[in-house]
Amino acid sequence: MTDRQYADGIVPGRLSPEHYSHNFADMHPPLDRHEALVEADRCYFCYDAPCMHACPTSIDIPLFIREIATGNALGAAKTIFDQNILGGMCARVCPTETLCEEVCVREEAEGKPVKIGQLQRFATDAAMMAGKQFYERQAPTGKRVAVVGAGPAGLACAHRLAMHGHDVTIYEARPKAGGLNEYGIAAYKTPLDFAQHEVDYVTAIGGVEIVNGKALGRDFSLSQLAAEHDAVFLGMGLAGVNALRAEGEEADGVGNAVDYIATLRQAKDLSELPIGRRVVVIGGGMTAIDAAIQSRLLGAEEVTICYRRGREHMNASVYEQDLAASKGVIIRHWLQPKRVNVEDGRVTGIELEYTRLVDGRLEGAGETLTLRVDQVFKAIGQSFEAGALNGSGAAIAIEGGRIRVDGEGRTSLPKVWAGGDCIAGGDDLTVSAVAQGRDAAESIHQALMG
Ligand SMILES: Cc1cc2nc3c(=O)[nH]c(=O)nc-3n(C[C@H](O)[C@H](O)[C@H](O)COP(=O)(O)OP(=O)(O)OC[C@H]3O[C@@H](n4cnc5c(N)ncnc54)[C@H](O)[C@@H]3O)c2cc1C
Ligand code: SF4
Repeated sequence: MTDRQYADGIVPGRLSPEHYSHNFADMHPPLDRHEALVEADRCYFCYDAPCMHACPTSIDIPLFIREIATGNALGAAKTIFDQNILGGMCARVCPTETLCEEVCVREEAEGKPVKIGQLQRFATDAAMMAGKQFYERQAPTGKRVAVVGAGPAGLACAHRLAMHGHDVTIYEARPKAGGLNEYGIAAYKTPLDFAQHEVDYVTAIGGVEIVNGKALGRDFSLSQLAAEHDAVFLGMGLAGVNALRAEGEEADGVGNAVDYIATLRQAKDLSELPIGRRVVVIGGGMTAIDAAIQSRLLGAEEVTICYRRGREHMNASVYEQDLAASKGVIIRHWLQPKRVNVEDGRVTGIELEYTRLVDGRLEGAGETLTLRVDQVFKAIGQSFEAGALNGSGAAIAIEGGRIRVDGEGRTSLPKVWAGGDCIAGGDDLTVSAVAQGRDAAESIHQALMG
């Protein structure tokens, strides 16, 4: 630790260069060949395997684990990619503890599931490192499809459409493709520019053009896109951020966790990224956990997550909560922000009110607590910005603030499909976005080819 670490306010360079590279290295280093074989041997290769049913992309998990066990890592990768072309990223970021590994028979029997995520990474890394492509484009169909957003949903949709021989153009508002894989996921889950390697791997199939810096609603309208293409897929994610609705939230030092994480993910030199000495994160989901852990890893001395309900109500899994605790993050429950204390325009503290449930409704209990802080991150959820669709010349049905789709991803507009975080009823996971993009592509293909 250096003296700088104890400086008040939001300052860069709290740690030594060695600390930064240590803190932001791969949190779960990959299995080597021997470890993968030992782990694969633990699988019972269950009939009607529960792990496979729990996977939103329905990867044939026992099959790919058997392929690893027999020394066929590339075959295992193909089994994974057949269902999930972003299987490499999902192996790194899926909350497996609440999906496939939660229902693994080994978890039920002995409280220690087969490390499905790690095995998936072993196989997909082997294929990607070898530059092995498994899919060829079918004969060109002459059909043109526009995809809005180059996140997991858009990329999965584009890959499947390209496979079927359609020509795809992805319009992406940001300078880089990848969506939250590039701008949101915690840095220690996907180091070494993995998101961009994966974009290159996925688009290597051909027939996919990515146009960066072009936004729907700003540079073109939905009706224009629909007129110029045979079909449109919307995979725009959630561009809006919910407000705290607490007095003083405009003060310097109060910001959105997702914006900060995006800056962190794009930072060339982490020692130039300013971070507070005492940080408070408001929220109870994965974004709150990621912002808190990364604040600690950047050298914040005291990081507290404040969540308005109990531990059991948090969206972040118990595993993620424990991970945060292991990094020194304090998680406090039953507290909601009331007021941000400000001096000379800068945040100096946050006043929180204790909460309680009365007849199932959350209410303030009247008693308050003030924490001294120099940085506050808001991580209380994101929202779909329907503004991008306004002025598009056609109204699209919205449900619960997001785009309404049917079982195949069709929106209320002809020729327009949607998937990923921007649709109603999703669970806001990378793997679900991939599944929805892939399935919408199949539906588009059926519609285009009759
Ligand atoms: C901080 C954070 C951490 C997360 N961590 C995890 C995790 O560890 N594991 C996990 O499974 N999930 C995680 N998630 C959720 C996961 O990242 C999302 O569910 C997933 O990225 C959704 O994919 P998507 O393609 O629907 O949207 P996005 O990934 O958001 O991609 C949408 C793309 O559309 C672009 N776009 C938006 N508007 C327009 C427009 N008008 N015109 C053109 N382009 C536009 C955006 O720039 C973006 O590139 C996390 C989310 C956040 C915010
Ligand atoms: S549930 Fe566990 S043991 Fe059974 S097939 Fe899946 S990974 Fe193997």
